[in-house]
Amino acid sequence: MAFSFTITHRDGAARRGWMRTPHGIVETPVFMPVGTQGTVKAMMPRDLEEIGAAIILGNTYHLHLRPGDALIARRGGLHRFMGWTRPLLTDSGGYQVFSLAARRKVEEEGVSFRSHLDGSACTLTPEGAVDIQMQLGSDIAMVLDECPALPAAHDVIAASMALTARWAARCRARFLAYRDGAPAGTIATTPDQAQFGIVQGGTSPALREESAERTVAIGFEGYAIGGLSVGESADAMYDTVGATTLRLPDDRPRYLMGVGTPVDLVEAVARGVDMFDCVLPTRNARNGQLMTREGPLNIKNARFAEDDEPADPACSCYACRHFSRAYLRHLFLAGEMLGSALNTLHNLYFYLDTMKGIRDAIAFGTFEKFRQSVHRSFSRRSLTP
Ligand SMILES: [Zn+2]
Repeated sequence: MAFSFTITHRDGAARRGWMRTPHGIVETPVFMPVGTQGTVKAMMPRDLEEIGAAIILGNTYHLHLRPGDALIARRGGLHRFMGWTRPLLTDSGGYQVFSLAARRKVEEEGVSFRSHLDGSACTLTPEGAVDIQMQLGSDIAMVLDECPALPAAHDVIAASMALTARWAARCRARFLAYRDGAPAGTIATTPDQAQFGIVQGGTSPALREESAERTVAIGFEGYAIGGLSVGESADAMYDTVGATTLRLPDDRPRYLMGVGTPVDLVEAVARGVDMFDCVLPTRNARNGQLMTREGPLNIKNARFAEDDEPADPACSCYACRHFSRAYLRHLFLAGEMLGSALNTLHNLYFYLDTMKGIRDAIAFGTFEKFRQSVHRSFSRRSLTP
């Protein structure tokens, strides 16, 4: 098995360690920049490497619809296609089907929907989600899950959680079939791929517990917590994360999907989470919001028109070493592409640097102090996701 996970330090429930994947080592806790269409928007892979991105995300739904996973497999897989030699994680496509696709219909067999690109009819089954991710050749693949919009009635969330558990078993069976060679008609571009299960269940502790039990019983290389940061309160999210990590095996990585703000990161790490992804640093950068050690900063604000300071004087990224707030504001107002590129570079650097700070603090036994310093700089309210 090419995948392994090792914990090297603990501070309370927070863990520091590393994952071994087919394309290299990833230190945890880790933040994974989101590369929806086979590119982290506005970033060259060279720049991602330079700021220390150890693993990035690819989106199964988008890449399956365009340019197609079979086309990418014939190019040697997603790593080679996009010029990224470090680890990749792909989602299962479920979240996008439920949030983007039109006229979706969920049945036991899978979900049928209309593409948001051209309206064509598509079907995504648990087995199909495994095949697509095998063809893309990510290092870590996710099972297909159903993501109900919250708030939803208890019985709706319960039924969805049970369906997710049945789909997880089918995903694992299909995944294990690849150990004897790729089934006819598919190409496995990273044969040593790992697969993570996903715990659902809304904010109900009982449903989360049952979901964790059923998912762990199937057995995966790692476990994700899905279906959060979809409208519930911060406290409800943290309580759910804390209750769920307690039910997950200590020796497997834990991934909180689609979360979040800098405060969310330290709060989830404090509850034993190892992996994160979120569009917030990249999307907000393109909207002119920069993350700094003093909190968020909106570069379009008139008070920065003649400000010669860098975005964050405490930051040593390329953007902060070379350009003023006045220049970044000008680029933003002029709609220049370089504005998005520099803002994204800075925000991702900030997130990756925050994760490094978290890892160091866990090693030094000073995580609680680090957590408080992040709270002093950020509150959820001050961000505009
Ligand atoms: Zn910077």
